[in-house]
Amino acid sequence: MIYQRSSALFREAQTYIPGGVNSPVRAFKAVGGTPIFVKEAKGAYLYDEDGNQLVDYIASWGPMILGHAFEPVIEAITDRARKGTSFGMPTEIETTLAKLAVEMVPNIDKIRFVNSGTEACMSAVRLARGYSGKEKIIKFAGCYHGHADAFLIQAGSGAVTFGSPSSPGVTQGTAKDTLLARYNDLENVEALVKANAEEIAAVIIEPVAGNMGCIPPSPDFIKGLRELCTQQNILLIFDEVMTGFRLAPGGAQEYLGINADILCFGKVIGGGLPVGAFAAREEIMKFLAPEGPVYQAGTLSGNPLAMSAGLAMLSTLNEKGEIFGSLEKKTTYLHEGIAGVLESHGIIHQINREGSMISVHFTEDPVVDFDSAKAGDNETFKRYFHGMLKQGIYLPPSAYESYFLNDALSYDDLDATIKALERVAPDLK
Ligand SMILES: *Cc1c(COP(=O)(O)O)cnc(C)c1O
Repeated sequence: MIYQRSSALFREAQTYIPGGVNSPVRAFKAVGGTPIFVKEAKGAYLYDEDGNQLVDYIASWGPMILGHAFEPVIEAITDRARKGTSFGMPTEIETTLAKLAVEMVPNIDKIRFVNSGTEACMSAVRLARGYSGKEKIIKFAGCYHGHADAFLIQAGSGAVTFGSPSSPGVTQGTAKDTLLARYNDLENVEALVKANAEEIAAVIIEPVAGNMGCIPPSPDFIKGLRELCTQQNILLIFDEVMTGFRLAPGGAQEYLGINADILCFGKVIGGGLPVGAFAAREEIMKFLAPEGPVYQAGTLSGNPLAMSAGLAMLSTLNEKGEIFGSLEKKTTYLHEGIAGVLESHGIIHQINREGSMISVHFTEDPVVDFDSAKAGDNETFKRYFHGMLKQGIYLPPSAYESYFLNDALSYDDLDATIKALERVAPDLK
């Protein structure tokens, strides 16, 4: 495959944009080589600036769950754009989307829209602190909750890909209020809670982790975490920026059968436009300005163009609930296909999957937390990534990211992916 134009565009971008990208993982630092510049996309396929067609497994890191340029979303955006794109005044469509989200997601009464997952998580923690009057939070190593200061303590995703577990610029003062626990290790959380009695406002977690590869929670862990938080009067925050409207219409709460106290959304909820949201029951949400004292605001929050994309997306997912099951079936098929090829070539690996999230780790031991994810062999991963790319398969360019399947992927695409791996596998030894 030729990447002439992508290479030229990347060089030009580096002149004007730090590292040539507006979000670090896009730069291919973890796998080497030149990032692919996208020209357009439709359904399950990306078309790059050199004219290559790629089968897409990242779906814009989740939002494009129905495939690219999904017609109802495009129509909604186009129609809305003609009527003006931002007013700084309330619009009806904000309520329409809020109502639909509240109907789809269990255990929430109200929702506030923001512009990104980062904003959602940042605001959720402020709300938890304001509501509880306590200051510390617990997060899990390898979980990513966006790039707000409080979360850049052993964060997953791009923050780990770049080997800067805690970023310069995050103050000691901030870091001391974020306590770090091990994913899938309830005793570890219990010990932290005990050592910081009465000081912990919230535990924030990706209910199915997707930023250190895909790591499902063990049932005992997630259930135990819920019970611990209830007993100790700690708010449990599910960061459902990845899992929301992806694992089930009601997200991870519905999928796992466990309720959180505050929910964070992003990605799918915006249908490919910049939207985040956080939500909770009335007694918590009423602490938020202008009703309550916890301040939170945004010039473009609830932007009508973004809301129209989100509404078209969620309406489709709400009406066609069978999409979730069909996506899970496709992901299982891919899982079995990949496992079959890697096993037949004797390549040491682990595959983690939950719903339509899946990741492959080149390591011997089960991947259940950040440390076991880090044990994966990155050299093998690089060969895997670039090998698949040459075959026209676009996987996440980092071992610490989950794949996100989209509804436009056909079984032919999945078969082509498995066949591609047949050709790549001999190089993975
Ligand atoms: C992507 C992501 C975020 C951050 O969302 P942005 O829109 O990139 O700010 C937060 N939490 C999780 C779990 C995510 O996957």
